[in-house]
Amino acid sequence: MRNLLIFVLVLIVIWWVRRALARPRGDGTDGGARGRHEPGAHAITPERMVECAHCGVHIPESEGVREGGHFFCSDEHRRLGVRP
Ligand SMILES: [Zn+2]
Repeated sequence: MRNLLIFVLVLIVIWWVRRALARPRGDGTDGGARGRHEPGAHAITPERMVECAHCGVHIPESEGVREGGHFFCSDEHRRLGVRP
């Protein structure tokens, strides 16, 4: 009876170790297909860079301000308006 318990315990340990070892490999293949290979890649999503209508500097769209069809890098440049 005791031998059976030890045998079952060993089986559980083997199953657990195999699962732990297979996990990173599985994420490498499946995760790559699903686009979650690198967790950090999710945070760094490419953002559209837009040119400021006043100074011409390109900044991420979310960081600027939009007014009257024009895009500005800051509130200051929005106030100053479009510069040719
Ligand atoms: Zn600007």
